[in-house]
Amino acid sequence: IKKKIENVGEFLKNMANLFLAGSSIKTIFEIAPDLYPIEADPTQLEQVFNNIFTNARDVLKNKGTITIKAENFFYDKKKYASLPLKEKYLKYIHITIEDNGPGIPHEILERIFEPYFTTKKYGTGLGLAVAYSVISKHEGYITAENNPSGGAIFHIYLPVKEGLE
Ligand code: ADP
Ligand code: MG
Repeated sequence: IKKKIENVGEFLKNMANLFLAGSSIKTIFEIAPDLYPIEADPTQLEQVFNNIFTNARDVLKNKGTITIKAENFFYDKKKYASLPLKEKYLKYIHITIEDNGPGIPHEILERIFEPYFTTKKYGTGLGLAVAYSVISKHEGYITAENNPSGGAIFHIYLPVKEGLE
C-alpha cells in the first residue's frame, strides 16, 4: 500500500539507527534539506534498506562505516544518458548507501541482483533481488558500484510524482 513519505531522509535515518542499535558500526548521514516527498510502500522500502544494511553489516563485521546520503535529483536525459530512469519523471530522490568493506568483486558485480545469487555459505541470494523488484515496482532504479577507495556503493533512484510536493 503506497503512502506519501514526506522525508525519505528521516525515514532512512530512523531505520539505520534502529538497525544498527547496539552495533559498533559507525553511520554518517548526508541528508539534503528540503527533500521532495515520494509515494511509496513504507513496508517494502524498509525491506529494501534492511537488505542493503544487512549486507553491509555482513561485510563490516561490526567495525566500519556506513554512509547514507539522500538528495533531490533532476533527471537530465542528456547529462545522464547511461542511467535508465523513466523519462516521464524529471525529479527523483537519489539515495546512496556506501560501506567501507572489501567491495563487490568485479566478476560478480553484474550478477548480485539475480535471485538466488550468493557468495555466502548460508546466504539466500534473495536480498538484492527483492530490493530490485521493489524499486522497479516503484518505477525507480537500483544499481551498485565500487568505491575506488574501497567498499560497495548502492544507488537508489525513486521518482517524485508531480503534485505531491
Ligand atoms: P545474500 O546476502 O543472501 O548473499 P544478497 O542478494 O543480499 O544475498 O546479496 C548477493 C551477493 O552480493 C552477496 O552474496 C555478496 O556477494 C554481494 N554483496 C551484496 N552486498 C555487498 C556489499 N555491501 N559488499 C560486498 N558484497 C556485497
Ligand atoms: Mg543479503
